[in-house]
Amino acid sequence: ERRETRTGWGEDHHRLRSGLPLYIGGVRVPSPRGALGHSDGDALLHAVIDALLGAAGLGDIGDFFPDTDPRYRGIRSAKMLSEVLALVAGRRFTVANVDATVMLERPKLGPLKQKIRKNVAGLLGIAEDAVGVKAKTAEGLGAEGRGERITARAVVTLERMV
Ligand code: MG
Repeated sequence: ERRETRTGWGEDHHRLRSGLPLYIGGVRVPSPRGALGHSDGDALLHAVIDALLGAAGLGDIGDFFPDTDPRYRGIRSAKMLSEVLALVAGRRFTVANVDATVMLERPKLGPLKQKIRKNVAGLLGIAEDAVGVKAKTAEGLGAEGRGERITARAVVTLERMV
C-alpha cells in the first residue's frame, strides 16, 4: 500500500453588480456590490470545487451543476461543495490542504480573511492550518481593478492509499 497524492487547480470569476449579496468562502461579506450568478456566486468555493473535481478526475463544476438547470438557481455553494466532497470521498480521497487567492478590489478582505479561512476549513472538515486564503486587489487594473469582477483561484491536494 502506498500513498497517492493528487493536485487539482480551480479558477472562477463572477461579475459584480449593485444590490446583490456577496459570498466568499461561504461567508456573507458586507459590500454594496455582489456576485451575479446562477448560484450564490461564491467564486472562492467554486474555485475550490473545480480544484477538488480536477484532482479526483471527476470533471468540472459545470458537469454537476449546469447553469442551465433551474434546480440549481440560487443554490448555496456550500451545498454544492458538500455534494462534491461526498463524490471525492467516494473515490476514497481525503483533502490534505487547500490554498486559494481571492482577487477583489473592494471591500478589502483583510479583516475577513481569518473568518473566511475558518469557514472554508469547516466546510472541508480539515484543520484551519491546512487552508490558505489570500486576499489581493488588482491595483486598480483590469476588470477586478474597476470593481466589475471577483476572481478566485485555488489549489487542492488530495491523498488516498492505493
Ligand atoms: Mg462560479
